[in-house]
Amino acid sequence: MTGPAHFSTRAARAGINRDPGHQGVVAPIAISSAYQRADPNSPGPYDYARTAAPGRDLLAEAIADLEGARGAVTVSSGMAAIDLVLNLVGSHARIVCAHDVYGGTRRLIDARAEQRGWQVDYVDCTRTAALKAALNTPANLVFLETPSNPRLRITDIETACKLANAAGAISVVDNTVLSAALQKPISLGADLTVASVTKMLNGHSDMVGGVVCATDPDHIEALKWWANAAGATTGGFDAFLALRGLRTLPLRAQAQSETALDLAERLSAHPKVTRVDYPGLTPHPGHQIAKAQQSGFGCLLSLELEGGPKAATRFVQSLQLFTLAQSLGGVESLSNIPATMTHASMTPEARTEAGISDTLIRLSVGLEDVDDLWADLATGLNALRTRAAKRRGWKADYDDFRAWEPVKQKAGWEK
Ligand SMILES: *Cc1c(COP(=O)(O)O)cnc(C)c1O
Repeated sequence: MTGPAHFSTRAARAGINRDPGHQGVVAPIAISSAYQRADPNSPGPYDYARTAAPGRDLLAEAIADLEGARGAVTVSSGMAAIDLVLNLVGSHARIVCAHDVYGGTRRLIDARAEQRGWQVDYVDCTRTAALKAALNTPANLVFLETPSNPRLRITDIETACKLANAAGAISVVDNTVLSAALQKPISLGADLTVASVTKMLNGHSDMVGGVVCATDPDHIEALKWWANAAGATTGGFDAFLALRGLRTLPLRAQAQSETALDLAERLSAHPKVTRVDYPGLTPHPGHQIAKAQQSGFGCLLSLELEGGPKAATRFVQSLQLFTLAQSLGGVESLSNIPATMTHASMTPEARTEAGISDTLIRLSVGLEDVDDLWADLATGLNALRTRAAKRRGWKADYDDFRAWEPVKQKAGWEK
């Protein structure tokens, strides 16, 4: 190869031809916990698998390369990756954190803050003025997540990281929702990225893992030190699975984004849907920034339906192709009600502040055919209509919402 290869080439070749033992095209699953020494006074390249292991190194190297980072440390979950980053700030630090980060992130930061005497300010980082005001006071760490999960709010990474650095803070972006295939925060000025490998990066919902990517050699060294000291490392089999998943990341990310955009558009036009959050839709408040800093809009979308929490529950329970389960970014589509599932660990006040209502529905769009997914959603929406009709004494069983229109008008149910 001359010059740096394209993203898809680097992804497809992740960990290929890296088996010095047997020249396997694919590296073997390295599960040994201990490595033989010739000399008690000096270890070989590997010594003990908590510190380093071949499969984990291949995975970290591949993700660092795709993120455009100098180095990466892989750990046992996305939360372990975030906790690893939190080791970079000492006691009595000040942390500025996006107010609508993943629920688990907020739970962890709050608990660590209590333990370590940190001051944490949760800020709507999509509003540059609010972030600027928060960073008039020096800070040690600024934690961003864009697009945010589940409301898909967009933060201008370049502006936010500049403000963070000017306030003396390390800037961190949680890149889980899009992955390096669709967004490269480090090229936009972030010091660190974290991601749940469990989601888009692996993409097959068969392992749990996390990664921290960094550019500053001191950060990399400190992260490696803490990963070894605290021991939240990636197992050999999980590293193998994630490396295998990574090779198809660009294709998956592109296909899932296209399908999600198509579904977001169809859902927006449906009379039973009152709001769709998807940065690919032109009216989305973050659309222009998303277009500029992302190379795709991602697999995640959220929506609100007419009706209360019962209608939302009935809808997700009626779906066949969207499995009701709390994760995202896999090849299989999933549905989720954040208030009672992924974001249940937040207080009701924190959820309200982050715009997560009890009726919000989040969909993770997989690799199924878009028409099959739409048929599933449309059937779910129309079933709600039929039940409403039954409640009102109508003998109706429409499976196409257009057929329902005249009946709706006659009954005077227009909103
Ligand atoms: C899932 C998720 C995490 C946590 O990752 P785990 O692998 O589940 O520990 C962190 N951030 C975001 C945005 C997530 O979606």
